[in-house]
Amino acid sequence: MTALTLFRNVTHWRTGERFTLAIEDGVVVPAPERPGAHARVHDARGAVVAPGLVDLHVHLREPGQSAKETIETGTRAAAAGGFTSIACMPNTDPVVDTPAWVEWIKRRAESAANCNVLPIAAVTVGQRGEQLAPLEALARAGAVAFSDDGRPVTSAAMMRRALEYARPTGLPIICHEEDPTLKGDGVMHEGFTATRLGLRGIPGAAESVMCRRDADLAELTGGRVHFAHLSSSASFDALRDAKRRGLAVSGETCPHYWVLTDEAVGDYDTHAKMNPPLRSELDREACIAAIVDGTIDCFTTDHAPHTADEKSRPFTDAPFGIVGLETALALTLTHLVLPGHIKMARAVELWTEEPRRLFGLPEVSVEAGSPADLVIFDPQAEWTVDPEAFHSKGRNTPFAGWRLKGRVLATLLGGRFTHVASDVHFERPSVESNPHVGAR
Ligand SMILES: [Zn+2]
Ligand SMILES: [Zn+2]
Repeated sequence: MTALTLFRNVTHWRTGERFTLAIEDGVVVPAPERPGAHARVHDARGAVVAPGLVDLHVHLREPGQSAKETIETGTRAAAAGGFTSIACMPNTDPVVDTPAWVEWIKRRAESAANCNVLPIAAVTVGQRGEQLAPLEALARAGAVAFSDDGRPVTSAAMMRRALEYARPTGLPIICHEEDPTLKGDGVMHEGFTATRLGLRGIPGAAESVMCRRDADLAELTGGRVHFAHLSSSASFDALRDAKRRGLAVSGETCPHYWVLTDEAVGDYDTHAKMNPPLRSELDREACIAAIVDGTIDCFTTDHAPHTADEKSRPFTDAPFGIVGLETALALTLTHLVLPGHIKMARAVELWTEEPRRLFGLPEVSVEAGSPADLVIFDPQAEWTVDPEAFHSKGRNTPFAGWRLKGRVLATLLGGRFTHVASDVHFERPSVESNPHVGAR
């Protein structure tokens, strides 16, 4: 039996009320009027408690690419970012396209134990787009969705078949939407900055034409389509239209699409190179509008760590992708909530309840009876992004040196601390040294 843990004066993420959060045996319990002498008591004045964040789009890089990230370091980064559940993409080496690899990831994640890990399995064998992966067997092994993320499912006939075979499993196909003929060998958004730098561009239509196609295929098959990392104005429109038609289509976007534009590429900065690329100011505004009007179903990070060596190559040769787990909450609070685009409660919903609902994950709350999978954060605390301090192996962020508001103080999974900020005093104080204990 674990001792009772109390967080006094903590603010409820939804109601804004101050209360005492009590946790015992990994579960939220009603706060006792007179805690026993063995209770651990923390003063959490100024801090907000919310259900642990969920990220449905993470690249953990294992198996096979552990120089970029491992399940251990990726889940530690997740815990530091306030996440208690993450779904990992199958574009590893080898690709996660067999039940054995799904089970391997689950076992590895359990021993790391920093965060729940939900494996996403490939749509096609080797993500080559030629032969359908055994979707039903992958679902039985514990896959939570299917995706060839990193590349599109180019053939419409293959996507149709995938949706038909996925349908009985009830799981969505997560679509990395990109028309390869429109993308060509583009490396950034097609626009003024690309022209200035002499780089090949990728138009927003490379994404949106595939969104339109897959919305139609969702209608044809009755399968579930989820658009990954939406970036362009026309794609937000495609998702909005699909919803109006009543189709089983959902979509996510990531912090960099509402914070940055293609201008962040500046002077060939590979830390602003990701796929889909950072787009125009109009696209950025359309992204915020799609969040505000409810078109966007949830937020994800598309956390994509790479080594410093890979990112120090010339812009055209460097890999696409940035890390995101340890800056996601602060970018949301600083760039969506603070300017007044959405309320804090809605921001939290988009990182917790909405992704849980989309993937049918168990509900988590801060109310008595819920598992204590929680994040405690200070929405007022300012900090400077220092990539060297990341728990992720990846240092590839465009936000190095940025001042952000909103800091994760602690993350709990099943009532156990999976992360405590280094300067925070939540860390298991001994009963003797705690002045609150026994005070009645
Ligand atoms: Zn992708
Ligand atoms: Zn991705």
